[in-house]
Formats: sequence, C-alpha cells, structure tokens
Amino acid sequence: MLLINEIYSAVCGESRFIGRPCVLVRLTGCHLRCLWCDSEHSFSGGERLSIDAIMERIALAGLPTVLVTGGEPLLQKPVVELMARLLDDGRTVLLETSGTRAPDSAVPLTAVPEGVHRVVDVKAPGSGIDAGQIDWAGLAALGERDEIKVVLKDRADYEWARELVKNDQRIPRGVRIGFSPVFGHLEGAHLAEWILEDRLDVVVQVQLHRVLWPDQDRGV
Ligand code: SF4
Repeated sequence: MLLINEIYSAVCGESRFIGRPCVLVRLTGCHLRCLWCDSEHSFSGGERLSIDAIMERIALAGLPTVLVTGGEPLLQKPVVELMARLLDDGRTVLLETSGTRAPDSAVPLTAVPEGVHRVVDVKAPGSGIDAGQIDWAGLAALGERDEIKVVLKDRADYEWARELVKNDQRIPRGVRIGFSPVFGHLEGAHLAEWILEDRLDVVVQVQLHRVLWPDQDRGV
C-alpha cells in the first residue's frame, strides 16, 4: 500500500522530459520544509491505495510516461515495487526526489530500480535546508540517465550552485544539471544571463506548468 496524495494527467514541468504528457503520481509526506515549497498540499491527506489500484489508475490515463513525485516519494518503501512494475509494463518512469538524507526507513537513492530516470534536487541555501542534509553519496552514484536540479532563490544561491558545478568533486560528471529559478523570487532571464556570463554548462529551466497555467497551483 502507498499513501497517495493525487494522480492526474499532466505535462512534465521540468527535466529532459519537459513538455511530455505524463501521469503524475504524487505520494503524501515529506521530511523537509523547503522555504519556497509549492507542494505543501502533499504533506498530509491522500488515500491508501494498493499497487494494483495505482497501476489501474495509471493504465486508465492512457499515457506511457509516469512521473513519481511528492512530497518525498522515497519515504514509502513500496514505491520501489510500483516503479519496478511500471518499468515491467514498458513505461518511461521518472522519479523526483529531494536528494537529502531521509530517515532510515526510507529508500536510498541507490535502491531505485535500474531504468528509472532519477531527477534529484540539490538544495541550495535559500531553501532553508542545511547542506549537511544532502545525500552526497547518493548523488555520486547518479548516471547519464539521471539528472540534478538546483532551485535558486537569489544571486547568493546561484553563486553557491556555480561553485558546486565548477569545483565540487561530489557532483558526478556527465549528469545533466538544470538550474531553476524560484517562481516569484528570481527572474529566469537574470538566471540565464548569469549562466551565459559564467559559461556554465548547465540547463536553464523554468517550470513549464507555471508558464502554461500561471493561476493554478494544483492539478497541473
Ligand atoms: S522536498 Fe519538495 S515537497 Fe518537500 S518541502 Fe522541499 S520542495 Fe516541498
């Protein structure tokens, strides 16, 4: 059983799959409280569903790509079985996770089934999350199928992330890295200009669902 906050059809808002229609499966619960979190509704509520029931709802949506997100989806161990079954079903599976050290009961990044595209947040200081909580060992194990996302609130966050990309050996080479501005705090154009000035080999990302549906917080 998994505690599911919501399941709906959407377009992928970020990552190399940006714009691709998908079934979004949001799990309830998160051990963090990022200051700019836009998914606070995922902290509680939802319904307990069996893996079979979740698979049925996904099949009904009729889309081959599934985005598993939260909250923090790795807090619930049966999510591993869900992802494995989705892969067996021939689906493209994306997992969005916070990239932090979670309670011992959680699934480590390294236990995510082979074949899942792991999209891992690295929390910049503006998130309010201490860098000591980042799962550096898990990040080091990422490969070319995976990607790192850094959400940036301001120039100080950008400079922290720039240092990370240029000089920190804990970030594996060859992994796609995206920098995203916090909606309402940092202009995407400013971020793009800084990246160009510094000749950083990272991708500028804006949350597509914010552009397409600026007035909707849920269901997009
Ligand atoms: S990890 Fe994600 S869901 Fe959890 S508080 Fe941070 S932004 Fe919100």
